[in-house]
Amino acid sequence: MKLLLLFLYLLVTVIRFGLDWINIRHRQKGRKPLPEVFSGQIDEERLDHSDAYALAGDRVGFVEDVVGVTLTLVFLFGGLLPWYDQLIASFSHNFIISGLLFFGLLALVQMVVGVPFSLYKNFVLEERFGFNRMSFKLWCSDLLKSLLIGTLLFSLLAGGALWLVQLTPQSWWLWVWGFWAIISLFLLYLSPYLIEPLFFKFTPLAKEDLESDVRELLEKAGAHAGKVLQVDASRRSGHSNAYFTGIGKVKRVVLFDTLMEQLDNKELLAVLAHELGHWRCGHIRQQLIKSQIVVLFSCWLAFTVLNSQILPGWLGLEQLSFAGQVLVLGWLGSLLGFFWTPLSSWWSRRHERQADQFAINMVGSGRELASGLVKLARENLSNLFPHPWYVAFYYSHPSLVERVLWLERGRVETKASD
Ligand SMILES: [Zn+2]
Repeated sequence: MKLLLLFLYLLVTVIRFGLDWINIRHRQKGRKPLPEVFSGQIDEERLDHSDAYALAGDRVGFVEDVVGVTLTLVFLFGGLLPWYDQLIASFSHNFIISGLLFFGLLALVQMVVGVPFSLYKNFVLEERFGFNRMSFKLWCSDLLKSLLIGTLLFSLLAGGALWLVQLTPQSWWLWVWGFWAIISLFLLYLSPYLIEPLFFKFTPLAKEDLESDVRELLEKAGAHAGKVLQVDASRRSGHSNAYFTGIGKVKRVVLFDTLMEQLDNKELLAVLAHELGHWRCGHIRQQLIKSQIVVLFSCWLAFTVLNSQILPGWLGLEQLSFAGQVLVLGWLGSLLGFFWTPLSSWWSRRHERQADQFAINMVGSGRELASGLVKLARENLSNLFPHPWYVAFYYSHPSLVERVLWLERGRVETKASD
């Protein structure tokens, strides 16, 4: 069984690297003439520039991936796991404390390994292509804040779960799921008010005429705008985005200041209409329900497998602590989840198309969204020539050229569907 697991892991790794490789080859060789709407925005020079950016990203991503794969192999198959398990047991025999230590220390190691990559990406790679706007001081304070919030959340979620496992040994999967579901709903509500302000500064829109247009658009879409804010994303990065939060009809709209620099008002409204489309078509609710079902099923599966005590044998071990078994199970879950990726990407691309159609219906045509997306692709140096297999496997959005062509052809749906 241990060999079979190793084989499965290597298979997934080979597929992942293979997909990356054909995607890089395709980008470098598959340059085709671009549709009309790209002209004046993206020329050959710009394409060379995005190519260099993507390649630099691929390189550091590859190194990071190799480090991750090596560590995983050494830890799970190289005999490090039982050693680590015993080390933790020698610190404490308390079920909750040893469980927290087990995962906490691993997370810490993972973070420490990630630090050089994060530094390199922000201050070398993004810097070279003009995206980084973050000072080293801000990077450090972000890291400290995330570490603090992460530790708090981890202690609450993992500590609570371990306590429930001990308290209800016969039905903990249901209790743990319920506990996590309640906390995650709370976080969804509270994070815009508690967590996000720790990192970003939210202020009223600097463009006054835009705010009334945004409110008008929301009313038209059947929502009500609570606050319309801009966020100082430009302090960290030149990449841009827009989103809105809030459960129910009252929405809080947030535009990145970088987005407002890059797009004109009509394009901004079209982007926002697309985001509203996700809410109006029920995608956000579906996503929430889907993730809760996955968590519930995972909890039940973990409960069943852990009770049967078969997991240590799979790795050729005599025994393994509860936390150790959960870790192995999580790893196995992510491995099997990999084969699920194309389906979930396809599902997401379908949603994107529906939200695009909603935006067309709201704004009257797809032209504004198309030209906005082209501008964003130019500013973000996006890859315009991904390999179709790579798109099918990973892309949560249709590839840009395909999406823009579709938007340009798009017509307002006349049937009164809602
Ligand atoms: Zn979308």
